[in-house]
Amino acid sequence: MLDQLEAQAPDALLALIKMYAQDPRDDKIDLGVGVYRTNDGATPVFRSIKSAEQRLVDTQDSKSYLGPEGDLGFVDALKPYVFGADPTMGGRVEGMQTPGGTGAVRLAVALAKAAGVTRIHLGVPSWPNHAQILQDVGLEAVTFQHAKADGAADIDALLQTIADARDTDAVLLHGCCHNPSGVDYTEAQWARIADAFADKGILPILDVAYHGLGQGLEEDVAGVRKVLAKVPEALVAYSCDKNFGLYRDRVGAFYMIAKQAADLPAIVSNANALARANWSMPPDHGGAAVRTVLTDEELTQQWLDELDEMRARMRRVRERLAAADNEVPGLNLAALGEQNGLFAMLPLTKEQIVRMREDHGVYMAGSGRINVAGLHAGNTDKFIAALADVTAG
Ligand code: PMP
Repeated sequence: MLDQLEAQAPDALLALIKMYAQDPRDDKIDLGVGVYRTNDGATPVFRSIKSAEQRLVDTQDSKSYLGPEGDLGFVDALKPYVFGADPTMGGRVEGMQTPGGTGAVRLAVALAKAAGVTRIHLGVPSWPNHAQILQDVGLEAVTFQHAKADGAADIDALLQTIADARDTDAVLLHGCCHNPSGVDYTEAQWARIADAFADKGILPILDVAYHGLGQGLEEDVAGVRKVLAKVPEALVAYSCDKNFGLYRDRVGAFYMIAKQAADLPAIVSNANALARANWSMPPDHGGAAVRTVLTDEELTQQWLDELDEMRARMRRVRERLAAADNEVPGLNLAALGEQNGLFAMLPLTKEQIVRMREDHGVYMAGSGRINVAGLHAGNTDKFIAALADVTAG
């Protein structure tokens, strides 16, 4: 039986990590894996999270089971950051904890299917796991172009997609800091998207995986809130793995926005049943640490300061790259200054990407995606010189 299985292609990014580890050059640069890095190339545990974890160790008196909904204190503490001044949207929002943003996306897709959605529209390129989850859950993915060649979002492609959608379609959008392109919709474009969803009445699924890593906590969800203000129903998948630095602890939340409060119990019971069948209940520790931070004023301030520092560092790297636009003609580095989050796509050929690695020790995904946070004051000039070299002549 098991010998019938065909080998799957290895994860390309994991293969890249291996190659990077084996490269003996001291000045090699890792722009592959999507984690934040400090100016020293480290991905440290947040100070606010360390303090919260210590408190948990000191005070937690049981590790007995929670339910499939996980730590609702965590889920509720996050709501004002996502939904704003009226964090329950008049009682129309309910949420549950999930194993990472991945678990939240999986629940969103599975719940949409259970509710009758048959196809999901997805801007491409996207986080590769979006398509894999859709396939695994058994929903058809219909793609549209996310970004234009000039480095801005292709708003017309999305509006057309919504206008042409069938009643049983849903549309999956990145709330901010688009992975892999860094290209987000502007506020004015989000207003048009919100109107388009409202006119058409189809279900939006909003994936918020990098909240606070773009322009600011409020700014990064302004578009999501515009959509939520206009539509009767929506699903939101949220990750705390980047903005609390909790990657391996798998911290996510899934929010369901219903037409009316009375609809929520049935919706939530379906999400709970799906969670039970998938992972029974989410891992507790990371969500409990986030709850501890968000329910303590001092720790919250410390977290906000740490997030500010990350965002400011990435903006400095982006500004430096944008300023090098003339040094590397043809790559439109200027656009990176306008884009958001950890990632950017460079229009390099496969051959140029191989030369970046072999000739210059710069490791980036085969798609041309770079992790902007892999750059810092000590290696950005070398990176720009490498780009100039592989694109010359
Ligand atoms: N959505 C997007 C767009 C992502 O890029 C990621 C992570 N790379 C996730 C969801 C899931 O994040 P995690 O499961 O690590 O919390």
